[in-house]
Amino acid sequence: MLSFGPVRTDMDFDSPGKRAGFVDVAHSDNRLAFSSIRLPVGVIRGGAGPTVLLTAGNHGDEYEGQAILHRLMQGLAPEDVPGRLILLPALNLPAVLDRARVSPLDGGNMNRAFPGAADAGPTSAIAGFVDRHLIPISDAILDFHSGGTATEYVDCGFLGLGDNHDLNHQCLQLADWFGAPFTMLCPLDGSGGDFDTAAHRQGVPFLSCELGGMGRYSPASFRIGWNGCLRVLRALGCLGPEAGGDVPAAPVTRFIDIGPGGVHLTSDRHGLAEIDLVTGQGVVAGDTIGRIHDLHCFGTAPAPLICPRDGILAVRRHNPVVAPGDHLCLITEEVSRDTLRVRMGD
Ligand SMILES: [Zn+2]
Repeated sequence: MLSFGPVRTDMDFDSPGKRAGFVDVAHSDNRLAFSSIRLPVGVIRGGAGPTVLLTAGNHGDEYEGQAILHRLMQGLAPEDVPGRLILLPALNLPAVLDRARVSPLDGGNMNRAFPGAADAGPTSAIAGFVDRHLIPISDAILDFHSGGTATEYVDCGFLGLGDNHDLNHQCLQLADWFGAPFTMLCPLDGSGGDFDTAAHRQGVPFLSCELGGMGRYSPASFRIGWNGCLRVLRALGCLGPEAGGDVPAAPVTRFIDIGPGGVHLTSDRHGLAEIDLVTGQGVVAGDTIGRIHDLHCFGTAPAPLICPRDGILAVRRHNPVVAPGDHLCLITEEVSRDTLRVRMGD
């Protein structure tokens, strides 16, 4: 029995074989006086090789990663796995069931809840369970995200860089194996409550990703994530070379930086926003990349959206009706591998 506050499980994480079970979170509210949230969990272990923790549904309205974990669980046998896979396809199950980013039970954003707390609601308790019991037994972690209902991301690995030089390089290796068209670089300053930082704090190589978005399931984004996942698991020695089917060699990923070079273009008015560009498209400072129409004064000239910097459009909002302060899109700085190495202190 493993426990953390209201979270407990009798799942056997250690024995060889393949099994599914639950991590139970005790919860009481108006609807459920005495109940538990049953997070599905799977273990596939065929040998003494490395352990990889795979999580999806960290944000509930992001679906490609959830599908990848379901497919892994259904398709792999213990003899396919020289190490151990631990799979949690709906890390924040209440949010998944609500088709929402955060939990309807406590408003908790799982990726702001780490390292968790036993007495701060179910979302934080789940994060605490993962932090206490699952990160320490993992040799690497893959956490799958997409843009969610509100946004669309370019398909990318998401590489958090902390202050541990060797660990940063291990994470970069994961990103290269994952081989998404882009890899987004994000500085970790230790204050975000994100899963990435929690893993870095315990010295465990970690890679997240963003696969499409808009609250839908994208077959193309699924395929990028699926291929990347299998490449990482095989390279780590956690999956046999044939398991999971044919996978192409990893393409060379392009690095884009959201900090300090990334710039959000933000609406200063109510209106109907047109953004002319698709994700992954190159942009030039000063270009008109869209416009905001006045929803009330039909026939008035729209306000142009001027690109603030050269770069790659990495994120764009989904719904075009905007209010002051709404982010419209994110322009990232493309950086070469040589520049990345300098930033990593090589
Ligand atoms: Zn997410």
